[in-house]
Amino acid sequence: MNRLFSPSTVDVTMIIKSGGLGFGSLKAYNLALLAKWWWRVRVDKDSLWADVINDIHGNLGGTKDLSYMPKFKGMWSSISKVGQEATDLGIPLISSFQRRVGNGESICFWDDCWLGSSCLSHMFSRLFELETDKLCNLKERCSISDGVVEWKWAWRRQIRSGREQEELYSLLSMLGNTYLINDNSGGWRWSMESSGVYSVKSLRDALDEKVLLTSSETKWSSLVPKKVYVFIWRAQKDRLPTRLNLDKRNIDLDSLVCPFCEDSCEDLEHSLIACVRVKILWEKIFLWWNFQMPAEINIHVLLNFVSDMSDDKKKMFHPFQLKCFEAVIFTVAWVIWNARNQKIFSGINQTIEWCFREVQDTHFVGYQVVVK
Ligand SMILES: [Zn+2]
Repeated sequence: MNRLFSPSTVDVTMIIKSGGLGFGSLKAYNLALLAKWWWRVRVDKDSLWADVINDIHGNLGGTKDLSYMPKFKGMWSSISKVGQEATDLGIPLISSFQRRVGNGESICFWDDCWLGSSCLSHMFSRLFELETDKLCNLKERCSISDGVVEWKWAWRRQIRSGREQEELYSLLSMLGNTYLINDNSGGWRWSMESSGVYSVKSLRDALDEKVLLTSSETKWSSLVPKKVYVFIWRAQKDRLPTRLNLDKRNIDLDSLVCPFCEDSCEDLEHSLIACVRVKILWEKIFLWWNFQMPAEINIHVLLNFVSDMSDDKKKMFHPFQLKCFEAVIFTVAWVIWNARNQKIFSGINQTIEWCFREVQDTHFVGYQVVVK
């Protein structure tokens, strides 16, 4: 895709109503921005604001437990809900923040979520009961001599056989995999970035994928695959790299004429509507769906064929039928553009019959996505 013609970031994040792609990007963006506070409350833990938040909401501002419900409404209340929202969308936020063990000084042995998905005080509640220093750090519980790790416990009394002993065995087996290093690089790492540092973009991209499939804002276009929808959006804005558009951007081309009829300059209208062979395809499509093809067609008339219908006319059809036909129109334009690209870039001359079958196949895939 030529960068010149890619939708700009600003356009893409605009909601559909204002002419953008919608796609729930705003929702993902908002969640990712809020989740940045989950990162900050971890890495800025010595700052004053984090102290205040931790005082009110508990360690890590309540963000280590999805079930945490803030007592007060406000900014932090929205922030703490992010974990559940992201998890509902399939992104396990808590475990995406990972503990760097380092030399163990910065890790609260029992209360930090540094080993596994929960903190040790939850996983081994009997042992935690017996701990004399509940705020001890990891380094205080562990010593390394000659590369051998030794665990140093400080129980109130001796561990009894039975449940307590079992808990100790499983704790030791979990700890067996811990790797302590002699530096002070302890802290947090964000698993979605190779740098380990949280970025709004990384979470937003991950969420976007999920949001796209569930966002109600994009339901109306759910019958066409995303790639088709993006294409239509670009076509509506005349952002396709037609030969005329490329020429306008001073890109050197051998020729400006349509690669099929070689009869006319290739602009948006010609390539998708006016070229003789694509006109035949449109006629075939309207016939297939038993709709009257408008006498005067242009890209605007076609893409808005369904939405511009009068209410009286709409009543003559089942709403789903209209939705499907709109999806078919979008798909036809996309297939025409594909055939055009194949001709230009691979020299393949696809027939009208091929285009027609492509429309049916693509449309069918979109339909399956919806009924699944
Ligand atoms: Zn032509």
